[in-house]
Amino acid sequence: MKELRCCLNRRYKMRYSKITLLLLLTFGMVLSVHSEENRQHGVHEHGGGQLNVVVEKNTLMMDLSIPAMNVVGFEHPARNDDEQKQLEHSSDLLRDGSRIFMPSPSAKCVLEQVKIESALLETHANHDAEEGHADFDVSYLFACAEPMQLKSLTLTLFKMFPLTEHLQVQMITPAGQTGTELESDNPILNLQ
Ligand SMILES: [Zn+2]
Repeated sequence: MKELRCCLNRRYKMRYSKITLLLLLTFGMVLSVHSEENRQHGVHEHGGGQLNVVVEKNTLMMDLSIPAMNVVGFEHPARNDDEQKQLEHSSDLLRDGSRIFMPSPSAKCVLEQVKIESALLETHANHDAEEGHADFDVSYLFACAEPMQLKSLTLTLFKMFPLTEHLQVQMITPAGQTGTELESDNPILNLQ
């Protein structure tokens, strides 16, 4: 019955990114569907977040999903000019992936694509955010000239958005699949 309800829900949107699809294929349907369902239903933990990382040939891809609370300090549509400015400033910072993520310099990675989504960035008053919770979902794609040198990824995300305390990480690299957790005092992801 739960599955049926989820799919009849008009808010339910299939918007798996390429990375999520890869993880879905790798880690199994059940896990991914449940996390997607939780996200759609706004079940997130303020201060937390999820980061999916895939290293494939010369590309480094990341999907970041964090509560809007971590980014702007609120989860409702901007109600005044100050909130609108805060929203624009914070989403610009989030888009600047080469400041948030610092791959090993010798890997010579360049940020090529960013895609950002949030109910808070939609122009029309939206119902998702009014129900109480909203996320930022951001995809980043880096191209690395020297992928063999890609040994680590340092996150300045915790400094730029201090309300973010920890991130659950799932990753697929040439070394295999693994999951870990990053925190503000442990912001470096080992990729090898
Ligand atoms: Zn929330």
